[in-house]
Amino acid sequence: ELDEVKGDIEFRDVWFSYIPGEWVLQGVSFHVEPRQTVAFVGSTGSGKSTILSLICRNYEFQKGEILIDGIDIRKIRISSLRRHFGQMLQDVFLFSGTIRSNIVLREENIPDEEIMKVCRYVNADHFINKLEHGLDEEVRERGNNFSAGQRQLLSFARTILHKPSVMILDEATANIDTETELLIQDSLEKMRSVGTMLIVAHRLSTIQHADNIIVLSHGRILEQGTHQQL
Ligand code: ATP
Ligand code: MG
Repeated sequence: ELDEVKGDIEFRDVWFSYIPGEWVLQGVSFHVEPRQTVAFVGSTGSGKSTILSLICRNYEFQKGEILIDGIDIRKIRISSLRRHFGQMLQDVFLFSGTIRSNIVLREENIPDEEIMKVCRYVNADHFINKLEHGLDEEVRERGNNFSAGQRQLLSFARTILHKPSVMILDEATANIDTETELLIQDSLEKMRSVGTMLIVAHRLSTIQHADNIIVLSHGRILEQGTHQQL
């Protein structure tokens, strides 16, 4: 059981395959200190999203170690782990319901005032305030009645509401209008102060602001360092 998580994440020579014999991660090692932001970059299929999935224990890896605050993640209950993690993964997240239910998840009795405070923090209030029903607006399956940028901002709101120590974000690749893009950028900057961030980054601004950039190719780390170093 994890009481408190500082957000120190370490991969030690991690090997992983979805299909036996086809290695998707081949000896990945890196270390992220609490409250640092790390950006993963690399071509499609290089293993970026897979790294994020393994941290959340969505899959079991075959070799190596993944440590959270020095503890082997296989020794931590999944429910306990996820309580401290905010997952903003590529496709999964919005379900049919309302804006409110998509933000609060299973937690009821959170006053609208508090929800809107979080929405303002992540810049999601701009579009929510324009909706006819506000927080009660219907979200259709997978949130397809909202734009990719709006969905991203909603996932930020959900994450921040649950105050995670570690935030895991797969940035949207879809075209996002310039205005929303700026809102997302500003929001990400603020979220950095909340906890450790591991981001599969597509935006140059995200990459530039990261404390460490990890470049992947075919499941291996090619190089890592800051934007200036690389
Ligand atoms: P992208 O930039 O396109 O999102 P990525 O770097 O996130 O790519 P991953 O999704 O981690 O790449 O995929 C790494 C490799 O694993 C790819 O070859 C992909 O086809 C394969 N892969 C991903 N998910 C699965 C899965 N559920 N089952 C089998 N193979 C998978
Ligand atoms: Mg991916």
